[in-house]
Amino acid sequence: MNIIDSFSERARTYISESKNNPVYPTQASLKMMKDLIEPLPENPMDASEVLSLLDAKGSPATLKSTGGRYFGFVTGGSLPAAMMAKLMATVWDQNAGLYVMSPIAALLEEISSEWLLNIFGLPAQTAVGFVTGATMANFTALAAARHALLKKEGWDPEARGLFNAPEITVITGNEVHVSLLKALNMVGFGRERIIRVQADNEGRIIAEKIPEIKGPTLLCLQAGNVNSGAFDPIEEICRSVNRENTWIHVDGAFGLWAGVSEKLKYLIKGIELADSIGTDAHKWLNVPYDSGLVFVKDRQTLLTALSSSAAYLPEIGQRESLQLVPDMSREARGVPIWAALKSLGRKGLQDMVETNCRHARQFAEGLQKAGFSILNEVVINQVLVSFGDSSTTLGVIKRIQEEGTCWCGGTNWQGKTAMRISVSSWATTDEDVNLSLAAMLSAAEKEIKNQGKSIQN
Ligand SMILES: *Cc1c(COP(=O)(O)O)cnc(C)c1O
Repeated sequence: MNIIDSFSERARTYISESKNNPVYPTQASLKMMKDLIEPLPENPMDASEVLSLLDAKGSPATLKSTGGRYFGFVTGGSLPAAMMAKLMATVWDQNAGLYVMSPIAALLEEISSEWLLNIFGLPAQTAVGFVTGATMANFTALAAARHALLKKEGWDPEARGLFNAPEITVITGNEVHVSLLKALNMVGFGRERIIRVQADNEGRIIAEKIPEIKGPTLLCLQAGNVNSGAFDPIEEICRSVNRENTWIHVDGAFGLWAGVSEKLKYLIKGIELADSIGTDAHKWLNVPYDSGLVFVKDRQTLLTALSSSAAYLPEIGQRESLQLVPDMSREARGVPIWAALKSLGRKGLQDMVETNCRHARQFAEGLQKAGFSILNEVVINQVLVSFGDSSTTLGVIKRIQEEGTCWCGGTNWQGKTAMRISVSSWATTDEDVNLSLAAMLSAAEKEIKNQGKSIQN
């Protein structure tokens, strides 16, 4: 059998089994993957044999995030059209850095950009960059912010760096995502000099607690807290703070996608007033890894902050992607994004997001009915549940993970140990929710019995 046919057969088997296998690899699979450990081979191996070895030892050791019952972290599945388009782009082996290196990659980025701006109601001239994930999207946006804020103070950060530059005040909420802190320290803003504004019980910035803004200021807001799913009051803040030399960035890694729903779009109201937004495509759009998007309202600012020039690079005219993102050579990320949007359409995208949210509410109701506490307002697809004291909750999480019907992780929400359920996959069905809920309740019952406690919350 040739390698492509062999690949198709293996892929078909993997995908069809992804609903049955335990969501987390078994101990035996984890042991078996270690068979791959060996010194660098001296001699070549046939490509088909390499693939066969990878499938035999590697496939069982994967997390079944495509199967519909993986609710860990915030993890999307992979839409069939997007998955296949990504494989197609791999077969094409395109470098999406420049138009001349891949006209089709550039065109599909252009088309997807327009569609995305339309979906989120962002101004048509907004620049869209295709990056690896929300961390890099945030990083890219912050580099643009750094340029704009300092330029207004008469300083050129790309030429002179930050030594002796005018100080930029950086404000975030208390419940800021750790990756944003990392992005802030990567652009030289320093994690420890950030002003952290108090957040409410749901993790939303309390607008009145934002200090008076004077001088160049970067204000970072959040659309979708990674635990609770809550949204900062974007419109209220954008309209009330001094905007003279303030850059407002919104981290909307997954929450931004709530904006596709007529029922939920109030949550991102005012998003068009932000200067930049970072989001993921590999979370709620259900595009394979790795894929994120950055939106910067002032295109020229992004171009100036990230451009590079060399004698062999074309003048900026057509879409020259490498002028909008940190990478130069890179994969054609617009291809799976285009395929995801084309296969779903506006209606399909809205249905996917709303179905995930309905399933999240179903989890919350089922757990609450059984006597457990839901710690957050289930506004979108995130549920935080406590099964009692910390050791009981941790014990239940461990049992759920080991039993294998579904997979959820733990977190700490405002001082309380919780299990976090994130429903973010197109593949999750009503049946998956029922099976998973039953598995959760049974694990909780066993743990509570084992600890000699009773359900009391
Ligand atoms: C996941 C997440 C990030 C980081 O995204 P990556 O794609 O993992 O880089 C940033 N912010 C929030 C709110 C997130 O949920």
